[in-house]
Amino acid sequence: MIRTRFAPSPNGPLHLGHAYAAMIAHDLARDRGGEFLLRIEDIDGERSRAEFVEEFFLDLAWLGLVRDGTWDGEVRFQSRRLESYAAAGERLKAMGLLYPCRCTRAEIAAAATAMGPDGPVYPGTCRHRDVDPDGAAWRLDVTRALDLTGPLEWTDEAAGTQAATPEIFGDVVLLRKDLPASYHLAATLDDAEDGITLVTRGMDLFPASHVHRLLQALLGLPVPVWHHHALLIEPDGRKLAKRRGAPSLGDRRRAGEDGPAIVEALRQGRFPAGISLSAGVDQGA
Ligand code: GLU
Repeated sequence: MIRTRFAPSPNGPLHLGHAYAAMIAHDLARDRGGEFLLRIEDIDGERSRAEFVEEFFLDLAWLGLVRDGTWDGEVRFQSRRLESYAAAGERLKAMGLLYPCRCTRAEIAAAATAMGPDGPVYPGTCRHRDVDPDGAAWRLDVTRALDLTGPLEWTDEAAGTQAATPEIFGDVVLLRKDLPASYHLAATLDDAEDGITLVTRGMDLFPASHVHRLLQALLGLPVPVWHHHALLIEPDGRKLAKRRGAPSLGDRRRAGEDGPAIVEALRQGRFPAGISLSAGVDQGA
């Protein structure tokens, strides 16, 4: 059975771009008789706030994306799964695939010779250094990892089969200095744990799937299919963002707007003035 999820981070209120992402995940599951789960990506302790989570539940119900007021499966909170992320980190350490690094962002920016999807690519400074692991971040030795797995592929429903190239990120951090996890590790483990068969998310996270595919191979996890969708963008081409004043779904809900009508408009490709869909392999579900 197909199972998708919507995985917002509670570091601000949801806006129309989130409604679009949730609608895609919802429709892809429902159209094929599958399940649609909710995951709260709240491991970023400094930025995550419980009041946003409360609002997420109200917003998604108001949009009409929750069947009979009940989510399929248990709602996953990443903050409650830190032990299993840490355990996976230990497995990767035992395989000799992680190494500690204490470099700062500024040091990395100064030493980097290439740009990757997330900015300057870490140049491997600590890979063969003797670094005090206490309070360090742990990076994945991607070259060594790929030597172990051999070439990998993954499939996006719209873009087709992709050769996995996790090396475009350099040696990514899997365990942060302040946390026994990172987005890549937590999202990959949770998608496996929750039996997600179709990972839906925005095109902006397309490159991340290269890393997730590698982690699946290293940890023996099932491999889903992906569906990266186009993003709602502003006239300047940048994606809608709460920090640039995109109205929150909560405000619209409180103003008495019709939630299901908003979703239906998105479904039909009718967007508010000035907002359009980014070019991408996919123009919707
Ligand atoms: N939490 C991420 C976001 O809000 C989504 C991550 C994912 O779907 O893998 O953009």
